[in-house]
Amino acid sequence: MARPTVAMARRRTTRQIMVGSVPVGGGAPISVQSMTTTKTADVDGTLAQIYALAAAGADIVRCTCNEAEAAEGLARIVPRAPVPIVADVHFHHEMALAALDAGVACLRLNPGNLRKPGEIRNIAAKAKDRGVPIRIGVNAGSLHPELYRKHGGATPEALVESALLELSYFAEVGFEDVKISVKASNVPLMIEAYRQLAEVTDHPLHLGVTEAGPPPAGLVKATAGIATLLAEGIGDTIRYSLTADPVEEARAGRQLLEALGLRERKGLDLIACPSCGRAEIDVIRVAKEAQEALEDRKLPIQVAVMGCVVNGPGEAREADLGIAAGRQKGHLFIKGKIVRVVPEAEMVAALVDEAEKIVEQGIEARLAAADPSAEGEAASDRATLLGAKGPDANGSEARVELIRKHLRAPGDGAPASSASPSVEPGQSGAPGSPAPGREREDGS
Ligand code: SF4
Repeated sequence: MARPTVAMARRRTTRQIMVGSVPVGGGAPISVQSMTTTKTADVDGTLAQIYALAAAGADIVRCTCNEAEAAEGLARIVPRAPVPIVADVHFHHEMALAALDAGVACLRLNPGNLRKPGEIRNIAAKAKDRGVPIRIGVNAGSLHPELYRKHGGATPEALVESALLELSYFAEVGFEDVKISVKASNVPLMIEAYRQLAEVTDHPLHLGVTEAGPPPAGLVKATAGIATLLAEGIGDTIRYSLTADPVEEARAGRQLLEALGLRERKGLDLIACPSCGRAEIDVIRVAKEAQEALEDRKLPIQVAVMGCVVNGPGEAREADLGIAAGRQKGHLFIKGKIVRVVPEAEMVAALVDEAEKIVEQGIEARLAAADPSAEGEAASDRATLLGAKGPDANGSEARVELIRKHLRAPGDGAPASSASPSVEPGQSGAPGSPAPGREREDGS
């Protein structure tokens, strides 16, 4: 559903490459990638995972090509896969050549462990003949040992130099169909490496925080790195590297791009209030139930779960649809307007029903179909709840009064502040004086 958009930083201008049918760079939508965790030789198992990844939002999927059986598996997987397949190659240049024979849409080479210039040129020449792009996948953890020594560690400069060195080998055979990644598990290092790389090349960039770890910390690290760069206009394709089911990676990638307004919403955006003293329901439980009930339906709308009808419909008036609790009832609202009141036990079912109708019929039609008595009933429940709990249900104002009372200087009624200290300089307890009963600890 349309909502006001705020422009992000202008996207960096890059050349475009094609990974099978998916354009990367050159103004194309930012694509989501993930990687299978199955043995590539297990064709049916790998295909099942690729289909699950595509359903969760992956535009491109990578599979390892680490042995002859994996290359043979790729030959069987590629024609049946719903998205382009990238072969991940380390150490063995003959596996890159075999993956090209298998018909993959792209190769990923690690310059840290495929280091012989002759072999690299050989792969690039064959990729050029086949019209297949290559990702130069530099990784801080497996940096070329000479560059590690030269730079005194895996610095941003070392990662960038590794990528440029590989590019120079490709250039010797006239191969330029390249995207690049300079990943690290250290987020500031990864951010700086990509920033420096973006300054010196116009090849599209594949963003990722490598070995980010299991969620939730892994999700936070990956998002910190990827989102920072995307917000600066850097990045053309992304992958979350999580220690989790790869479906989580694809889902997170897709959700990040939707949250940043870089891809059109395909699925649900569930928002919920943080709950407070006014909540009439267990917001966490109801939000979870709503998420589970709505998620699989892939409805491209924003849905709000709010703890009370006193403030909920107003606080979430931008949501397409929402539910707010009050007096054992669920108050269903569309764009902040109450359209139906249902028993509390039916809140989630009513939310799902209305969400499907909104997608089918549109917001305006559902607003027109509102129960005319719903607004009045909500107003009456709101007034009753306000009467029962008062305007300060969280006790915030009472606490503010308490703070003010305690901070008032005795006698004059004026609030104490740093401009009017309650002790004279030099007195015990004044700033710069040792605390009463304590001498300075530095021995001076
Ligand atoms: S006032 Fe109501 S909607 Fe707002 S946080 Fe509290 S319970 Fe949730």
